[in-house]
Amino acid sequence: MRITNVEPILLRGEQSYVATAGAAEATDNGDWQLLVKVTTDEGLVGWSDCETLASVAMACINGPGMSVLGFRCLKDLVIGEDPLEAEQLWHKLYIGTSYFGRRGAAIHCISAIDNCLWSIRAQAAGVSLGELMGRPKIDRVRAYASTLFRETPDAMFEAARHYVERGFKAVKFGWGVFGEDPARDLELVAAARDALGPDRDLMVDPGWYGAGWKGPWRPRTLDDNIALCQSLAPYRVRWIEDFIHPELFDDYAEVRRQSPAPLAAGEQLATIWDFKRLIDGRCVDVVQPDLTRCGGLTVARQVADLADDAGIDLVPHSWLTDLLTAYSLHLVGSLARPVLVEFNVSQSALTRGVCGGALSLNSDGTVTIPRGVGLGVQVDEAFVEAHRVR
Ligand SMILES: [Mg+2]
Repeated sequence: MRITNVEPILLRGEQSYVATAGAAEATDNGDWQLLVKVTTDEGLVGWSDCETLASVAMACINGPGMSVLGFRCLKDLVIGEDPLEAEQLWHKLYIGTSYFGRRGAAIHCISAIDNCLWSIRAQAAGVSLGELMGRPKIDRVRAYASTLFRETPDAMFEAARHYVERGFKAVKFGWGVFGEDPARDLELVAAARDALGPDRDLMVDPGWYGAGWKGPWRPRTLDDNIALCQSLAPYRVRWIEDFIHPELFDDYAEVRRQSPAPLAAGEQLATIWDFKRLIDGRCVDVVQPDLTRCGGLTVARQVADLADDAGIDLVPHSWLTDLLTAYSLHLVGSLARPVLVEFNVSQSALTRGVCGGALSLNSDGTVTIPRGVGLGVQVDEAFVEAHRVR
């Protein structure tokens, strides 16, 4: 079997990323969405979404590459290759884009292509992706509602109660106004804890840009980060996420040593070399590769082995379309110690429409791992055509 095409497909929507002031649901990236479609000469097709700056990614995949290795575009590197050799091909793509790639948009595109190849490989084997990766012993994964901070304690309480009523046993609030006013931050987290009761999990994602959205655009100090963890711990947070600049591995390790609450991070990282540094450096209690950014399933599976050896949990970052959630579900199902899957409750019309709402929450607070051959969720191609930018 040979790869015959790699197509970046850019979708345009009419909503924008917004953290609501009140209890109403937030919205994820509703303005642009990049999909990647890999096709083969045997008719098997893989789809992945990709969380990146779509305009740059289009050029990384489809642009005119240069003749020198390291400056190639991904399409030229991939066409004609065997889709069943994802791990070997990964290195060709990494080296082939190494001058402009390695991190950022190019590795995000490599991630999407790699996911497509794993999907095709499962289809070729006639099994589900999870079965291909390791015969999962579970058929469903406990899901956490993943959303943005609301601006007032009342709105936080109301929003959290809404997730409880829907059946969620775990909720993560992130970004939004968090960081602008430390006293209000604690009131917001306290309100969420009140609404969730003592037994449900609450996770906090403070953001790493500094003081929320408004700057000052510099890292919090080490002492500030330690103080932040100490202030959040009384609310029994399951983890505090991705709140230190992703380059500051040593800060992560030091804050973790002093934090009374567990730390989670990894969504900004790519390649096994970055994750090895994070895990070997004892930086986190929970590692969170995002399958559309980390280098794809090929890298995430290597991260899973490292996490298992280190005795820490892996919970993939997954806040995009149901394609990413489905890839994440299969990965979690294949882990030695499956814990949680992130469930994007803030999907925009554009994000949700890609798979037509294929995945939903079960009454026990879990999401079922897609059954059937390959990825197990279908792209709504009529929706894609209707929103496609040409
Ligand atoms: Mg996060």
